[in-house]
Amino acid sequence: MIKHVIAGLERTSERTFDDVNPWTQKVHAQVALGDARDVDDAVAAARAAFDAGPWPRMGFAERGRLLHRLADLIERRTAELAAADSDDMGKPIADLKHKDIPRAASNFRFFADHARITTAERYPMDSGHHAYAEFPPAGVVAAIAPWNFPLMLETWKVAPALAWGNTVVLKPAEDSPGSATILARLAIEAGLPPGVLNVVHGFGPGSAGEWLTHHPGVDRITFTGDSTTGRIIGQAAAKRLCPVSLELGGKGANLVFEDANLDEAVAWSDRAIFSNAGQICLAGSRLYVQRSIFARFLDRFVAAAEAHVLGAPDDPNTTIGPLSSKAHFQKVTHYLTEMPPGEGRIVTGGAMTDGSWAVRPTVIVDAPATARVCREEIFGPVVTIAPFDTEDEAVRLANDSRFGLNAMVFTENLRRAHRVARALRAGTVWVNCFFIRDLRAPFGGVGDSGVGREGGSFSREFFTEPKAVVIQV
Ligand code: NAD
Repeated sequence: MIKHVIAGLERTSERTFDDVNPWTQKVHAQVALGDARDVDDAVAAARAAFDAGPWPRMGFAERGRLLHRLADLIERRTAELAAADSDDMGKPIADLKHKDIPRAASNFRFFADHARITTAERYPMDSGHHAYAEFPPAGVVAAIAPWNFPLMLETWKVAPALAWGNTVVLKPAEDSPGSATILARLAIEAGLPPGVLNVVHGFGPGSAGEWLTHHPGVDRITFTGDSTTGRIIGQAAAKRLCPVSLELGGKGANLVFEDANLDEAVAWSDRAIFSNAGQICLAGSRLYVQRSIFARFLDRFVAAAEAHVLGAPDDPNTTIGPLSSKAHFQKVTHYLTEMPPGEGRIVTGGAMTDGSWAVRPTVIVDAPATARVCREEIFGPVVTIAPFDTEDEAVRLANDSRFGLNAMVFTENLRRAHRVARALRAGTVWVNCFFIRDLRAPFGGVGDSGVGREGGSFSREFFTEPKAVVIQV
C-alpha cells in the first residue's frame, strides 16, 4: 500500500486506487485515495509546522545540513527509488539509477547551498536612509507534479521550497505515486520536523489536486503538467490571488544547419526525442534540417531511431520502455493511426502490435506546419522532420507554435548560434546539446509552455515573500 504522509505519519484513506505497472500491465500496488479531510489535514500539518515549528526559524545552515542528509539518504536508497519510478511509469531502470535519482539528490544539495549563500540586496539611499531586502519564506507550498520524471521533478519543486524555509504538501501524479511516499519517509529519517513535507495521493479534478489548488491555507502553488491543466490551476489561483508557477507542455523545435557537426547533431537529436520514450516536456519533437544535408541527416537519423532497443525496463540493454499507461499509449497511437491524408508519412516506427503499451521511435516526413502532428504535444517517441532553406525560414518555422519551452540549434558557426538563439521564442535554447542544465539558470516557458521561472534566484523570488526594510539613519 502506498500511503499518504501527513504530519510525519503514514496513513491511508477509506478508498484506494490501483497502481498499474505499464510493462507487466498488472496492478503492483494499491494507493491511498486522498479525500477532502486528508487534504485539509495535510495543509493543516504544513501550516502548523510553518507557523509554530522550528523549520522556518532554524536558519539556512541547519536546514541545509538536514537537506544534505536527505540527499545522502536518497543516494543510499537509489535502487528502491529507481524501482518505484520504473514500476510506476515504465522507464528503463538504468536511466533512473544513473540520471534521475542522482539528480533528485543534487536538487536538494544545490538549493540547500544556494539558499545559504545567496545575498540580499541593500540600497544605500541619497536621503541617508538605508534600505535592504529580505526574503522570508512564503508559507505553505502546494506542489503538484506530473509522472514523466516523478522524483526528479518533485524534488525540483520541493527542494527550493524547503531550502527557503517553507513547508510543503506534495501531490504526485496518480500514475507515479511510489517515490513521493518514500521521499517523505526519508525526510523524517533525515530529521526534518513532522509536517514540513507532507504527501497526499489522488487525482486532479474533483480530487486532491483540485482541492489543494482551491485551499485557503495554501500560499503558493507550483505546478508541472499539461497546458490545459495549467489554465485550470491558474484560474483557481487567480480567485484567491495565490501566486502560481506553471511549468507546462512543449513542442520543441530542433534546427540543424548545414554547417553542423553531423555526428553530434544526429546523436543529440535522437536523444532529444527518444529518451524517456519521448515523454519529455522538452522533447525536440519538430526537427528542421537545412535542405542541403536533409537526405543525409534523415538516413542517419532513421538508422539511429531503428537502433533503439524496446523492452523490459529492468533489462540493461533497453533504451525505450513502454509508455506510462494504457490511456497514454492510446493517445499517442491515435496520432499515428488517425493521421489525416496530406498530414504526413511515417518512414519508420509506429505503435507496437504485440499488446505492449510501447511505441517504436517514429519519424514522420511530409507533414506541413499546419498538421496536427506538428502543432500538438504528442508526448511520445514521435518526431516530424522537414527541410528548410534559410536561417530566417528556420527561425520562422521554430517560432510558429503556441508553445515556447525550448529549442535546439546545431551549427558550428558561432555568430549564427548567437543570432538564432536570440531570435528563438523559447525559455531555453540549447546549442549543440540538449537537456544540460545549470540549476542557477532560469527554467520555464513562453506562451502555452508556462508562466514564471524557477531555478536559482528565480526559485527564491517565487518561494519567498520579498520584503523591503527602510531605516532612517
Ligand atoms: P497533467 O496536467 O494531466 O497532470 C499533472 C498533475 O496535475 C497530476 O498530479 C494531476 O493529478 C494534476 N491535476 C490534473 N488536473 C488537475 C486539476 N484540475 N487541478 C489540480 N491538479 C490537477 O499532466 P501529466 O499528463 O501528468 O504530465 C504531462 C504534461 O506535463 C505534458 O504536457 C508535459 O509537457 C508537461 N511537463 C512539463 C514540464 C515543464 O517543466 N514545463 C515538465 C514535465 C512535464
